[in-house]
Amino acid sequence: MSKYWSDAIRQLVPYVPGEQPKEQQIVKLNTNENPYPPSPKVMQALQSFDLERLRLYPDPDAGRLKQALADHHGVSRDRVFVGNGSDEVLAHSFMAFFRQPQPLLMPDISYSFYDVYCNLYGIEHRRIPLRDDFSIALEDYDQGNGGIIFANPNAPTGRALDLDQIERLLKRNTESLVLVDEAYVDFGAESAVSLTGRYDNLLVVQTFSKSRSLAGLRIGFAIGHPALIEGLERVKNSFNSYPLDMLAISAGVAAIEDDAYFRDTTARIVATRDWTTGELEALGFRVVPSRTNFLFASHRYLEAAELMGYLRANGLLVRHFSRPLIDNHLRISIGTDAEMQQLVRTLETHPDIVRL
Ligand code: PMP
Repeated sequence: MSKYWSDAIRQLVPYVPGEQPKEQQIVKLNTNENPYPPSPKVMQALQSFDLERLRLYPDPDAGRLKQALADHHGVSRDRVFVGNGSDEVLAHSFMAFFRQPQPLLMPDISYSFYDVYCNLYGIEHRRIPLRDDFSIALEDYDQGNGGIIFANPNAPTGRALDLDQIERLLKRNTESLVLVDEAYVDFGAESAVSLTGRYDNLLVVQTFSKSRSLAGLRIGFAIGHPALIEGLERVKNSFNSYPLDMLAISAGVAAIEDDAYFRDTTARIVATRDWTTGELEALGFRVVPSRTNFLFASHRYLEAAELMGYLRANGLLVRHFSRPLIDNHLRISIGTDAEMQQLVRTLETHPDIVRL
C-alpha cells in the first residue's frame, strides 16, 4: 500500500491465479492446463521462426490469425477479435459493453475474474444463484439488466447449457449484450458461435489455453457482430495497439490449422475424464457431470480441504475454493491417463477411503 494509490486501487481485490509450483515432479491438476503438448505443427512454426524479425512490431491487426479463426469458424474476418488470453478479451468486453446504468447479471458461482473486472471498472452487478444441482437457471435472468455474462460450460462446476436455452435467452433479452465465455467448450459442449450470425447481441469468447495447449502464449478471441468487434478494437487500441506478439500469431495459426491433433487430444481428455468420473464415484465422491477438462467433486464423508492437503502431501496438486457453497468441493483438472491413475491410487491409500 502506498499513499500514491488511488481509492479504486486501495479497494481492489485482485484475482489470485492457481498456484504454479516450482517442483518439477508435482502432478499439476489445479489450473485446467492441457496435459498434452501443443501440436507438432506449432512447435515447428516456433522453431523455424526467423528471430531477427523480432526487432519489428507485430501486425497490429494480427490478420493471419484472425483469418485462420474466421475460416475455422465459418465467419467473416470482421467478426473476429483477438487478445492476450481470454482474460484480456473479457477485460476489454467489460470495459466496452458492461459499464451501463443497469447492473450486469452473472451466475453465483462462476469464473471469479468477472467480479474483479466489475470492481476495476466500477460496474454494478447482480449475482444470480445457481440451482441446487449447480446448473444455471437462465429464466432468472429476465430482469432489467445492463448485460449478461456466464461461462458455458460454467467454471468451476463444469456443467453446460444447451444451445436452445441460450437462444431463448437471446430472444428474451434483445436490448442487452449477452457474453458467453466458452473457455472449456471444446470438451463436449455446444458452441454459441453458430448463433452469432443471427443475434447481434451475442459475443462469444474462447481461448487457446485449454483445448489448444497454449496457455503459456496467451491467446484468446471473441466472435460476434462486426459492431461489437469494432467496440472491442476501440478499447484495445486505447491500451495497446498490438494485440499479440509475433510468436503468438505464428503459433496460433499453426494450432488452428492442425485440426486432427486438436480432435485427437480433446477426445483423449474427454475419455480420461469419463474414466476418472467413474473411479471417483467408486471411491465415494459425488461428481458433477462435466463437459470440460476438469471435474468438480465432493466426497460423501471427507472434507475437501483435508483431501486437498492429503493429495498435496503425496505430490498431486488440485484446486480448492474456500468460498461458501463450494468449499466442500475439489476441482480436479484432467491430466494424462497415467496422472489420473496416480490420483486414483493415491486416494485409495487414504485411510478413510474405501472402494464402494
Ligand atoms: N474463462 C474461464 C471460465 C476460465 O476458467 C479461464 C481460465 N482461468 C479463462 C476464461 C481465462 O483463460 P485465458 O486467459 O488463459 O485464455
